[in-house]
Amino acid sequence: MSDEPNLFETVKKHICTCSLDLQLTPNVEALLKLPMRELHVSVPVRMDDGTIQAFKGFRVQYNDALGPTKGGIRYHSRQNIDTVRGLAALMTWKCALHNLPLGGAKGGVICDPKKLSRKELEMLSRAYIQAICQIIGPDRDIPAPDMYTDQDVMAWMMDQYSLFAGRTTFGVITGKPLSLQGSEGRLDATARGGWHVVGALARDRGLDLKGATVAVQGFGNVGSFAAVLGQELHGCRIVAVSDSSGGIFNAGGLDTRAVLAYKEKTGSVRDFPGSKNITNKELLELGVDILIPAAMEGVINQGNMDRIKAKVVAEFANGPVDNEADEHLRRQGIIVLPDFLCNAGGVIVSYFEMVQNTNLDHWDEQEIHERLEKKMIEAYNAVRDLVASDNVPWRQAAYAIAVSRVVSAMRLRGWV
Ligand code: GLU
Repeated sequence: MSDEPNLFETVKKHICTCSLDLQLTPNVEALLKLPMRELHVSVPVRMDDGTIQAFKGFRVQYNDALGPTKGGIRYHSRQNIDTVRGLAALMTWKCALHNLPLGGAKGGVICDPKKLSRKELEMLSRAYIQAICQIIGPDRDIPAPDMYTDQDVMAWMMDQYSLFAGRTTFGVITGKPLSLQGSEGRLDATARGGWHVVGALARDRGLDLKGATVAVQGFGNVGSFAAVLGQELHGCRIVAVSDSSGGIFNAGGLDTRAVLAYKEKTGSVRDFPGSKNITNKELLELGVDILIPAAMEGVINQGNMDRIKAKVVAEFANGPVDNEADEHLRRQGIIVLPDFLCNAGGVIVSYFEMVQNTNLDHWDEQEIHERLEKKMIEAYNAVRDLVASDNVPWRQAAYAIAVSRVVSAMRLRGWV
């Protein structure tokens, strides 16, 4: 695991820079670099063949100065406690930057969800909630979807928590199906929100998104909607997309809805008619206007940073550009729009879902879209203004705003 990117180390380096900028004392800096609480659990599942398998799971509640902690649950074989800590820290900055009354958390179970049957997936989801139910709750910590966890998983988790609580508790989980008090607009919220940020940057810089070339790495929930909405809302030319098995390229632009249907049918985007197969590595190195990494952390790193040719890198994934590459891209004049600015749409609509659940209310899709855009643009404007006034990189500006809000709440509460 030593060659794997360590997301928590990446995030902690930014906290150091921030601490200098904000002139924080060493004690405050140390506190910001420690998760408030973490639970390590074993998740026993009776497999279809009758054997019991114990999976390793975590829930990290990073900081709750601004409110109950919030963040998704990831099912993936390539993660460890430091990945989850890093993601939980990013959730803290994400909620703070977007002015949500929430702290940050993240959960993970180390498993290969593609190898589990539907029944095993349900058993795993229920067992995980059973293991962490003492520390979550509608006003404590509210999980949500992340990589390889969808609305069906959220429904089982909500149900399992409700068995523990002795009453139906919709508010414990967000990203639920619509018929179980989920929210309109939650499914494509992360990608939609990301495009609001890219769109605002394009407006500010006088770039025309119509016909702009875009490559999207990752074709899960975030990447697939990023491709479809880029084409449909902004008229971009999506020249390349990829999933874990590889990518496809068409210089004239892909029909993204057709790619989505093809992936649903065949399980992969590879060999999509009329396109050329490329590798994930080649996709990242295309000379496009906008590169959208929407999959794993650390994919742009020392190994490939010299070959990145995009004009703008919009981080729809969490932590896709490591610190060395970040600095290098900046020196090359490539704008990197940071993850917790770009990809907050999911948690913003999750927050709307919480508000609707609390008030027994239901907002229509248009209302969700308008409120989401307003939130994304407010955060974008705050970061853009700091970038302009202090001449700092986008990520540094985003960190400065988010961390100062968390620190100010900690001060007011008498913690530091
Ligand atoms: N997993 C998403 C994220 O990384 C959404 C979290 C949420 O909705 O709480 O932002």
